[in-house]
Amino acid sequence: MSDTDGKKPLGLGGGRPGQVKQSFSHGRTKTVQVETKRKRVVVPKPGTPSGKPAGSGGSGDPSRRPAGISDAEMERRLAALRAAKAREVEEAAQRAADEAEREREREERRREIEQKERDEREHQEALRLKAEEEARKLREAEIRAQKKEEVRKPAPARPAAVDPAAAQAAEARAATKGVAAAGPRKTDREREAQDRDSRGKGKGDDNRRSGKLSLNEALNSEGGRTRSLAAMKRKQDKARQKAMGYGASAEKQVRDVQLPETIVVQELANRMKERAADVVKALMKMGMMVSMNQPIDADTAELVIEEFGHRAVRVSDADVEQVIDTVQDAASDLRPRPPIVTIMGHVDHGKTSLLDAIRKTSVVSGEAGGITQHIGAYQVTTERGSVLTFLDTPGHAAFTSMRARGAQVTDIVVLVVAADDAVMPQTVEAINHAKAAGVPMIVAINKVDKPDANAQKVRTDLLQHEVVVEQMGGEVLDVEVSAKTGKGLDDLLENIALQSEILDLKANPDRAAMGAVIEAKLDVGRGPVATVLVQHGTLKRGDIFVVGEQWGKVRALINDKGDRVDEAGPSVPVEVLGLNGTPEAGDVLNVVETEAQAREIAAYREQAAKDKRAAAGAATTLEQLMARAKADKDVSELPILVKADVQGSAEAIVQAMEKIGNDEVRVRVLHSGVGAITESDIGLAEASGAPVIGFNVRANAPARAAANQKGVEIRYYSIIYDLVNDIRDAASGLLKKEVRENFIGYAEIKEVFKVSNVGKVAGCLVTEGIARRSAGVRLLRDNVVIHEGTLKTLKRFKDEVKEVQSGQECGMAFEAYDDIRPGDVIEIFEREEVERKLA
Ligand code: GDP
Repeated sequence: MSDTDGKKPLGLGGGRPGQVKQSFSHGRTKTVQVETKRKRVVVPKPGTPSGKPAGSGGSGDPSRRPAGISDAEMERRLAALRAAKAREVEEAAQRAADEAEREREREERRREIEQKERDEREHQEALRLKAEEEARKLREAEIRAQKKEEVRKPAPARPAAVDPAAAQAAEARAATKGVAAAGPRKTDREREAQDRDSRGKGKGDDNRRSGKLSLNEALNSEGGRTRSLAAMKRKQDKARQKAMGYGASAEKQVRDVQLPETIVVQELANRMKERAADVVKALMKMGMMVSMNQPIDADTAELVIEEFGHRAVRVSDADVEQVIDTVQDAASDLRPRPPIVTIMGHVDHGKTSLLDAIRKTSVVSGEAGGITQHIGAYQVTTERGSVLTFLDTPGHAAFTSMRARGAQVTDIVVLVVAADDAVMPQTVEAINHAKAAGVPMIVAINKVDKPDANAQKVRTDLLQHEVVVEQMGGEVLDVEVSAKTGKGLDDLLENIALQSEILDLKANPDRAAMGAVIEAKLDVGRGPVATVLVQHGTLKRGDIFVVGEQWGKVRALINDKGDRVDEAGPSVPVEVLGLNGTPEAGDVLNVVETEAQAREIAAYREQAAKDKRAAAGAATTLEQLMARAKADKDVSELPILVKADVQGSAEAIVQAMEKIGNDEVRVRVLHSGVGAITESDIGLAEASGAPVIGFNVRANAPARAAANQKGVEIRYYSIIYDLVNDIRDAASGLLKKEVRENFIGYAEIKEVFKVSNVGKVAGCLVTEGIARRSAGVRLLRDNVVIHEGTLKTLKRFKDEVKEVQSGQECGMAFEAYDDIRPGDVIEIFEREEVERKLA
């Protein structure tokens, strides 16, 4: 250092004094101001040992100079001293700067390590999230595929097709996330590199900014890093939520979602308190394209529920029915109700006549068609004001089939027995039905107007079947009536009213209605119509209900007089309009609160019925099948398809059909239903070679066309009797024809000749009847048949003839049989095929 000018500031060689450039391993640089304490250089003046500050002004003062030292010498010494001092200071500053630099380097290394660790952690976190995300997707895809396989019968390849896509999407998301996680750091680095470069270049001309905390530096400092970390976290959360398939929403409420076997999408959304559109979207992501009004199975629904972060609570299938009001009525709520009466008895004993006569005693309403083909119910009021409800049933079919479905609608059975007849098979059947149902009976001894009526005989006859009427000392009420003259009808009605009082029939009219379907039909103009007998509660217009596998909302109520009414209380029969399908007789109608409940119950029942049928089909063992096949081999079946106007008719026809046949032939009703004959009926009929029977219904145009094309026979009937007769005749056609033998003659063998080329020929005398060439013959020896066959020749003298009369001689030879002897008898017979008929 040649510079000895004290005015010049001291500095570090080359660099700017007091500045240290920090450089960080990852590329950032920072210039830091270093405070170097300036030391005062004390140059002791000559002669002053304590030394005075070597002021610039003091130098070269000859008065303070030690003696004997020349000025020049003094100057030289001072300069040397100054130089030494300056060197000392310079070295100290250098040391300090070096120390600071080292310290900074240490600090920098520490930070670097921390940063590295942080980076590593972030990287690991990103990897973990990505892995989790992928695992989750994979798991979902697996579960979904599994469920799909289990639940959806025709497992669509969709989940497989969609899930990889979803997985890819998730991967893409995770990848983006990875980029996002690495992003800020990378850009930071780049920025820092640029900064460093620019700073390196602009070293000389950017002096003023150096050493100060610039905005750029501030952004790149630790503060900036913290911010980007938070942003990264937010990004990750967002991505995660996005992957979950729903929008970010703070603090979701986890709900327990009641989940039945099947659930309509809209209802599922309601229960989760989510938007239906979101649920549909979620389902779409799972590869299920469904609308809001479509039902989905519980397994799929459960996945959706989980996806929305709720909990699925499976409810047992039948639980859906629990919304049906089954509360026991308090005794105080119960009000008396009319009895429901069914008239039963043997055919032709006057059931229909009696029902008609009873109706006429009350309000006369012209019943179209009448007769047992119309099934319904009506109410009458007795002279004393009691109201009675009569069921108009075809024999016992409806009674039993309704009972079989658990709908017991009858309170009292009126057993009709004709006084001019006796207790007949169907009378006994009726008695058994009533007893089985635990329903009290009233015996109506009918046709007492007839001269040969013998009411007493009926009473004694009934004793044999454990029906003890009052006159015989029993408890069963009996009334002598005549449907023809009207005699005893009032008596009968009062007796029914009395019996009803004994039964103390009550119901609560103030609750959700429950009733039984007595009849159901598909009306062309009005749609499905069901006649319902309300059993408790009051059915009102607008009520939402479920009936069997159907549901609906009461659009209109029509009573037995054809009037529109607003409501129907206990024991009142009404026609209900507003069904979504045709129920079956015996189905129970229940009013429920909401349409969703009605739909759900109906859907559940439909599924349950389907399952039951499927289970019944699957339950047949191979042995059973073989046994059936064996049994079927000898039995010819006449398959038919029956469509009728009302359920009652259809049932009556099916039952009548089942009765036709014997152990050789039977009628099999492939399908029976209510409504017009449709194309699908024709399809089914064609497949089985069955005719289609339309009872008071017709085939629609497409069905007619299909029938013509496929050669399916459609037959229309309006009288069950005719239908039964025709089917019986048709079934008779399946009976094997009876082969009858007619003996047409006998001949006695007188001699036996041997004729070349022919063999043995018997010379006979026709003793009886006629011998015919084409007939069958038997050879009898001592009245024992030793051969049966045909003739080879029949000759009268030399000529071959067709027949030989009694008393004439002839020659006969057997086909392929030679053992004939004089004295043998030849029996000549003819076979005849006789058509048989089913009884
Ligand atoms: P169902 O098969 O039991 O419904 O019997 P119906 O009501 O069809 O009656 C059968 C036949 O008996 C019909 O010809 C009626 O006219 C006749 N009949 C029914 N009730 C009486 C009656 O009280 N007196 C007479 N003399 N005939 C009756």
